[in-house]
Amino acid sequence: MAETAKFDCEVIVCGGGPVGLCLSLLLSRAGLTTIVLEKEMAIEKDLRASTFHPPTLDMLEELEITAKLLGQGLICPEWQIRLHPDGERAVFDLSVLDSDTRYPFRLQCEQWKLSVALKEALCEDGKADIRFGTEVTGFEQDEAGVLVKLRSHTGEESQLRTRFLIGADGSRSIVRKMLDIDFNGLTYPETTLLVTTHFPFEDNLEGISNVSYCWKDGGNFSLLKVPGRWRVSIYPREDLSVEDQLTADAVEASLQQIVPKSGAYDVIEKRPYRVHQRIVDNYVHQRVILVGDAAHLNSPSGGMGLNGGIHDAFELSAALSDILKHAAGLDRLSLYDRRRRPVARDQILAQADANRARMREKSPEKRREILAGLQKITADRKALHAHLLKSSMIEGLRMSAAID
Ligand SMILES: Cc1cc2nc3c(=O)[nH]c(=O)nc-3n(C[C@H](O)[C@H](O)[C@H](O)COP(=O)(O)OP(=O)(O)OC[C@H]3O[C@@H](n4cnc5c(N)ncnc54)[C@H](O)[C@@H]3O)c2cc1C
Repeated sequence: MAETAKFDCEVIVCGGGPVGLCLSLLLSRAGLTTIVLEKEMAIEKDLRASTFHPPTLDMLEELEITAKLLGQGLICPEWQIRLHPDGERAVFDLSVLDSDTRYPFRLQCEQWKLSVALKEALCEDGKADIRFGTEVTGFEQDEAGVLVKLRSHTGEESQLRTRFLIGADGSRSIVRKMLDIDFNGLTYPETTLLVTTHFPFEDNLEGISNVSYCWKDGGNFSLLKVPGRWRVSIYPREDLSVEDQLTADAVEASLQQIVPKSGAYDVIEKRPYRVHQRIVDNYVHQRVILVGDAAHLNSPSGGMGLNGGIHDAFELSAALSDILKHAAGLDRLSLYDRRRRPVARDQILAQADANRARMREKSPEKRREILAGLQKITADRKALHAHLLKSSMIEGLRMSAAID
């Protein structure tokens, strides 16, 4: 029997989230066979990422995905940190990055639109084998490959054999759990509330940017616009339970603190979420490899988790292609770990943690001091350029590309 006949495909991707779908598309465009196993019946349209950073748009261009996202999102040439209600602010103008990226702006576009675009591209290529309603329940690996156990939504159990299994199955990854490795870090104490509304904050808060992180008396909130609605993240009062904060009255009171108005806000969606800062010690475990949220988690402050996962997918796809198409040894995978894990730990997790801590500062004097420091940066083109290279994830990618 030919060697390949022993395998159902070259790579099985556990998890059809944006990172798993992106990896699958990259691999199939490289001529490799993949199967994506996704436990949900369809792409979830829940409230998750909304910010795409410039280098992610540069990368997704190769897959013809960037143009699709641009057509469905909001181009945001600036973002800001702001004192509410007086409106004093530091505005970060991303056009200083125009020689570093073809997309010197943040794109505000819901994460599910990326997943849909990736899935459509896989289907259009005609090489897609995406199995929705199929849950990975376990695996066994040997020197040559991995036997993956699955359960369909009807309860039918089966198995597939592949050369590599990728855990792209998110924060509660079964693949990571079955590897029995630590997911080092912490869960922050607060639960954040995310609500969406049609209310036009831009007509009521002078000079507000589509991406605005705001301090308010005794707390903070952020306002992120996506097409047709604002997403408001409310960092809740510590003296109330999550249930109490989620009631219609409590949400209304929080929104009225941002812009007081007669009549109630129209709240379209709301969800609470916990925030973690965690990372595994190694992304590569012989033929089982972790990617995206399965490998690292960070505070959404700064919008880097999904972006970092997409960057992982590009790096991992290059390593798998070298092994499967160009006869590189399995040790080629260690470069994926060496390049991507330090960026996640030292850039993404660290910056997200610092962003969260900055916005949780409660002292009015310290806030003024921080704001003055940020305004100094925004007034100096060189300092602004250095700041935005880092916060836009370009610096991290350059650091990782320099590792060999
Ligand atoms: C409120 C919020 C706002 C955010 N904002 C941003 C932002 O602006 N920018 C940014 O970059 N990031 C942001 N993030 C983070 C971003 O949403 C995640 O980093 C991103 O979803 C990670 O993608 P993923 O594909 O790795 O994992 P997921 O999106 O979690 O996908 C994993 C998939 O695996 C499937 N799965 C799980 N277990 C199994 C199994 N056993 N078998 C088969 N399938 C399985 C799941 O159903 C899911 O579809 C935000 C997160 C939150 C909560």
